[in-house]
Amino acid sequence: NADAAMYHTKNNGRNGYYFFQPSMNTIAQNQLQLINDLWLALDSDELRLFYQPKYTAPSGPIVGFEALLRWQHPRRGLLTPDLFLPLAEKSGLIISVGNWVINEACRQLHEWRQQGHKNWSVAVNLSARQFEQNSLVDTVVTALEKHQIPPHLLTLEVTETTAMLNPDESVRILTALTDLGVNASIDDFGTGYSSLLYLKRLPASELKIDRAFVNELSENSGDATIVSAIVALAQSLNLKVVAEGVETPEQQAFLTHLGCDSLQGYLLGKPIPPDRINELKEYIKTTDSTPVA
Ligand code: C2E
Ligand code: MG
Ligand code: MG
Ligand code: MG
Repeated sequence: NADAAMYHTKNNGRNGYYFFQPSMNTIAQNQLQLINDLWLALDSDELRLFYQPKYTAPSGPIVGFEALLRWQHPRRGLLTPDLFLPLAEKSGLIISVGNWVINEACRQLHEWRQQGHKNWSVAVNLSARQFEQNSLVDTVVTALEKHQIPPHLLTLEVTETTAMLNPDESVRILTALTDLGVNASIDDFGTGYSSLLYLKRLPASELKIDRAFVNELSENSGDATIVSAIVALAQSLNLKVVAEGVETPEQQAFLTHLGCDSLQGYLLGKPIPPDRINELKEYIKTTDSTPVA
């Protein structure tokens, strides 16, 4: 098997990568190999950003896109973040990966702006470790300036759980970031344990209802109660509400009825590579009146 042979060549140390002791178990070996590969991937153009549209409820116009990381691995194929981000986080590589993501998202947005899509925004996810870095503000400023992006067109998504790891520190970091003019969004909301007082202190402008609640909407009336409570809470705190994971027309209608501002999900658009964004044309026509150059 070609795959195994390649690992074998790399693993015997001749390329200066990790040398695997025979005593190491297979899982540990695979993990080290993946970290090693990721380190190389950063330099060899294997990371990709896919973009998932975010629509004004119920079905447009497009507000912007969430950038979602993919890794075009030379042997394993296209990998989703769950397969490598936890390792990137553990190994510290997430800082370099995260910096790449911020810069690449701004570069892509600049390209879209040049094509006439002046109102589109882009959202980038931040990991816990990246969020704690003092250099994050500099990274964001540099990327915005380099690609001439008006700060209000960039949103930084932080999960409720990340924000709660160190609440005071999160307020400080998010304040520094939002002072730049970028937007902060609380991702996967409803799965963590924020207190209302704390939520009020966070300088976020948007709250994303976790997919788990949206998922259960049709079958479980308990979750409908939760979703409407989250929407009411967000509105009372002056936060925009986004629902993620919208997969059915029933969910779309119900979330709109409850007062969600925007919707994201497979029903409206899956994450796609930027060269396929024109497949969303019918929406673009109605949403972006600026002529395409
Ligand atoms: P997230 O930020 O909550 O992103 C939403 C996830 O749900 C994405 O998975 C997206 O593809 C998926 N999704 C969207 N609509 C639907 C739907 O209708 N149904 C279903 N079943 N799934 C839907 P993905 O791309 O695999 O990303 C997973 C998580 O990885 C993200 O969750 C985010 O926390 C993290 N992530 C992605 N890209 C980055 C990145 O660049 N940096 C960091 N730190 N984390 C990232
Ligand atoms: Mg997100
Ligand atoms: Mg989410
Ligand atoms: Mg999520």
